[in-house]
Amino acid sequence: MSLKNSCRRFLPFALLAAGTLVGLDSGNTLPAAEGGKPAAAPAKINVLVLTGGHEYNRPEFVKLFQGYDDIKCKVVKQKEGAEAFDDVADWPYDVIVLYNFNQKITKKQQKNFLDLLKKGVGLVVLHHANAAYPGWPEFSKIAGVTFHFKPWEENGKKHKGSGYKEGVKFRVHVADSKHPITKGMKDYDIHDETYIRTSIHPNVHALLTTNEPTSDKIIGWTKTYKKSKGCYLQHGHDEHAYRNPNYRRLVVRAIRWTAGRL
Ligand SMILES: [Zn+2]
Repeated sequence: MSLKNSCRRFLPFALLAAGTLVGLDSGNTLPAAEGGKPAAAPAKINVLVLTGGHEYNRPEFVKLFQGYDDIKCKVVKQKEGAEAFDDVADWPYDVIVLYNFNQKITKKQQKNFLDLLKKGVGLVVLHHANAAYPGWPEFSKIAGVTFHFKPWEENGKKHKGSGYKEGVKFRVHVADSKHPITKGMKDYDIHDETYIRTSIHPNVHALLTTNEPTSDKIIGWTKTYKKSKGCYLQHGHDEHAYRNPNYRRLVVRAIRWTAGRL
């Protein structure tokens, strides 16, 4: 978690994981239409995943979105910052997944991004994307979180900057097992990077919490912005998280829920 990036690649793990992909929640059950003919399959959820500004294990990461009959996904690296939002006139995507760490977003890109959210395009924010676009205060309201790169002050009170720790094995508590994204899930363990001392907005709906001392308490939530359903998941540093079946389930359900399909 730094501009230069502290992530490392673990190719041996990538090779190990290559044969162990399990499709969770995959497939639709299509009701038979009258006359015995199968009903037409609903259109796939069209997902745009933005990366950029931070290294990651791409071959393992993209598997998070593969193996599902109802999801079509494009992963696009943002080189400048937010060029995906340069022109949204013929926007084809139902859901935006942010896994980027880009710092720049122009005024025009901000407006176009907001226009998409006003139209109801879903938004899933993963892991280090909580620190994207720090110069745009509205992004904190959209994502529900502010990552403080430096110490900060509010109403005369001084606060330390946000922190991160890699390679933490910790327990996650499912705070709401009735929400569609976390329905039926039990508490679980994960090996991942944690974030601490971020500012989490009070109006988020907590899905996941932890007592891990290197982490903020709430680590997964939903949040609505304008007409857009949103979900943030702190998990997702590397293949240790990507391979975790609970994380896989959370990501695909977050996509479906923010698309209005769950
Ligand atoms: Zn990370």
